[in-house]
Amino acid sequence: MSHTFDIVIIGGGVVGLTTALALAQKTSLTIALIDTKKLSPEWKKENYDFRVSAISLASQHIFENLGVWDAIKFKRVSAYEKMQVWDESSGTIEFDCEKIGAKSLGHIIEEAVIRSSLLEMIMTQKNIFLYDDINVVSIEKNIESVVVKTQEKELECKLLIAADGGNSWVREQMGISINQMDYQHTAIVCNVQTEFSHEYTAKQKFLNSGPLAFLPLSDTHTCSIVWSVPQSEADLLLTQSDEDFCVSLTNAGIHSLGKILSTTQRYSFPLRMRHAESYVQTRLALVGDAAHTIHPLAGQGVNMGLLDAACLVDVITTALNKHRDYTSLATLRRYERFRKSDNALMLNAVAGFKKIFSSQAKPLTTCRNLGLALINKSDFLKNKFMRHAMGLRDEMPTLTLCQKNNWNF
Ligand SMILES: Cc1cc2nc3c(=O)[nH]c(=O)nc-3n(C[C@H](O)[C@H](O)[C@H](O)COP(=O)(O)OP(=O)(O)OC[C@H]3O[C@@H](n4cnc5c(N)ncnc54)[C@H](O)[C@@H]3O)c2cc1C
Repeated sequence: MSHTFDIVIIGGGVVGLTTALALAQKTSLTIALIDTKKLSPEWKKENYDFRVSAISLASQHIFENLGVWDAIKFKRVSAYEKMQVWDESSGTIEFDCEKIGAKSLGHIIEEAVIRSSLLEMIMTQKNIFLYDDINVVSIEKNIESVVVKTQEKELECKLLIAADGGNSWVREQMGISINQMDYQHTAIVCNVQTEFSHEYTAKQKFLNSGPLAFLPLSDTHTCSIVWSVPQSEADLLLTQSDEDFCVSLTNAGIHSLGKILSTTQRYSFPLRMRHAESYVQTRLALVGDAAHTIHPLAGQGVNMGLLDAACLVDVITTALNKHRDYTSLATLRRYERFRKSDNALMLNAVAGFKKIFSSQAKPLTTCRNLGLALINKSDFLKNKFMRHAMGLRDEMPTLTLCQKNNWNF
């Protein structure tokens, strides 16, 4: 059976869901959203999701403007006020929201909370049609339309948006190549109970083997950890008993949190930098991890994807308002121009950061220690870093602008 839509989005992760909701609210286009998994707004309060993200102020504004922030906040968020970064041989840099007159640096939020809140709002939207628990078997891009075939259905559209994550099948089918680099790290992710309160401070220690981050959750003695290590070390940490893993984590030396008392199940993610050579073709746009993946050390992956979504929506609405073809390469290239350079900057900065912190070569460690000391002494530099990470910079998409005309901290 064949169905016709204006836009089909493949991938219902945070970025695909946000793109669908924003397009549905800002235009009268009809949108189909496809995911291989079941998409349900159901959310279970009892346990923390193992996947959490540090959500920037710009991303918070996107959720506010889409009317989902209150639902997210009502479920569960953790505002973090400070961030401490240090390595084994240098002093600590501390970022404090008070220094820029803000109430927090951002929020640590479980992915399940964001997805559920977006889906609740999507269910109320008459111009979004969900096709979940379904496999796409082929995509045919013609001059006039794109035909997406699943085993049972055929969805025809004017524009296809790929939001199907880092291993994007759509990107591959459409022949878009990627620049990639193995970070030679695997991230171990779990939630742990700590002896002392995290005091709403995000902590990241650069160990010789890679960064270890503690992200404060709403319970003051629970943190989500992201421990990035070479694969051989990850294999060891993943096979340890829970008790031994807690000892390893305690010994890794985030002393201000005391002993690690317990852990949830551990999950692992091999880390790879990917950047699509092009984000667009005629009738096709890539957003989120389908276009780029980044090391989690800067906590920027989903924030970058949400900016892609907001920017693409700006470009499409502008084209519609000017009665231009929103599916043309010329229109979509505007989206690519805005986002590709911004994302490349972040990808390069994080790759450089990772390199500097993983080197034990004396000249580099000396430069690193001097650099860290300099940054820590300079409120100007620290404020610049904080504002950039929070998404407070020039030329941001409309959806990131605060409607209340203040920072709403
Ligand atoms: C350990 C770790 C920690 C991180 N921490 C942070 C952080 O603190 N802050 C931050 O901003 N980012 C963080 N990130 C990055 C962030 O998780 C990703 O950038 C984000 O999840 C990408 O969202 P997405 O919607 O683009 O893709 P995904 O979340 O991968 O969603 C893709 C969706 O597409 C669906 N799909 C896949 N293939 C198909 C197909 N063929 N057909 C139909 N559907 C399909 C999937 O089922 C899924 O629902 C972290 C990542 C990792 C690994």
